[in-house]
Amino acid sequence: RTVYVNGEYLPEEDAKISIFDRGFLMADGVYEVTSVLDGKLVDFDGHVKRLARSLNELGMGEPLTADELLEIHRKLVAENEVINGGVYLQITRGAPADRDFAFPPEDTPQTVVLFTQNKPDLAESPAAARGIKVISIEDIRWGRRDIKTVQLLYPSMGKMMAKAAGCDDAWMVEDGAVTEGTSNNAYIIKDGKIITRQLSNDILHGITRAAVLEFAREAQMKVEERPFTIEEAQQADEAFITSATTFVTPVVEIDGVTVGAGEPGPAAKRLRELYIEGSRAAAV
Ligand code: PMP
Repeated sequence: RTVYVNGEYLPEEDAKISIFDRGFLMADGVYEVTSVLDGKLVDFDGHVKRLARSLNELGMGEPLTADELLEIHRKLVAENEVINGGVYLQITRGAPADRDFAFPPEDTPQTVVLFTQNKPDLAESPAAARGIKVISIEDIRWGRRDIKTVQLLYPSMGKMMAKAAGCDDAWMVEDGAVTEGTSNNAYIIKDGKIITRQLSNDILHGITRAAVLEFAREAQMKVEERPFTIEEAQQADEAFITSATTFVTPVVEIDGVTVGAGEPGPAAKRLRELYIEGSRAAAV
C-alpha cells in the first residue's frame, strides 16, 4: 500500500514516525475513518468537520485544509485501487524532543498519517444480513467521548469481552443507560419510534448517526433522542447500530435475550437501504 505521512506518499514499509510521538506515548491524537463505496468517499464533509472539532477541543491546530484532505484521500484511494473499504486518518500533537506530560511548544509539527483499507463490499455485509449479538459492559471511558481520540484500549477490551461471550460487540452502560457501542452508536425501535441517546460529551457524535436520523425524518419515521436501558432494548421491537464501517447493522440479541423476532427487522432494513442509497448518491 501507498500511505501518507507528513506530506509524503510512501510505500507502507518506508513510513516512519518518531518513538517520541505523543500519539504513541500519550494517545494524544485524533482520528477519522471515512468509508469508500464504489471508489467514492462517504460523508466526507461530516468527517472533516468532526476532525476540526476534535482538534479544536484538544487545543490542536488544523494542519491541512478540507480541500487538501480531500485531495490526499482521493489520491490514496486511486493509488491503492480501493473500490470498497475506507481511509483512516490520524493527527497527533507531534513528536517533542523528549517524553513530557506538558504539551510541546506550539510550533511542534503535528503528525499526519493516512492509509487505506480494502474491505469486502460494505453494502453486502453478512453481519447486516443476519444481525449481530451484543453484550452489555460498564462504560468506564473518560468523560469526553465526543472527541474522537485514539484512546481505544477500553473499546478494544470490550470487543474482546464480546468475542469471549460468543457475541459480536458490546454496548456500554453508564448510570443504568446505554451510552453507545464500542465503535458505533446504539438504537432501538419501539412502536415505530427510533430511540437513540441524545448528543452530549457522553458519546461520539456519529457522522452516520446524523445522516441516518436525517434520512429517517425525511421518510416520516419518528425519532426520539433520549437514553434507554438494556431492559428496554431487550423488549424493543428492533435494535441496530450505526458507524462509518457498518452503516446500519441490525442487533438481534442483547445479553442473551432475543430482540423482536430475532432477525433483522423491517425498520432497520429500511434505514440501511435509505442510508446506502443516499450515501452512494452523495459520495464524493
Ligand atoms: N461511537 C464510537 C465510540 C465510535 O468509535 C464510532 C466510530 N468510530 C461511532 C460511535 C460511530 O461514528 P461514525 O458514524 O462517525 O463512524
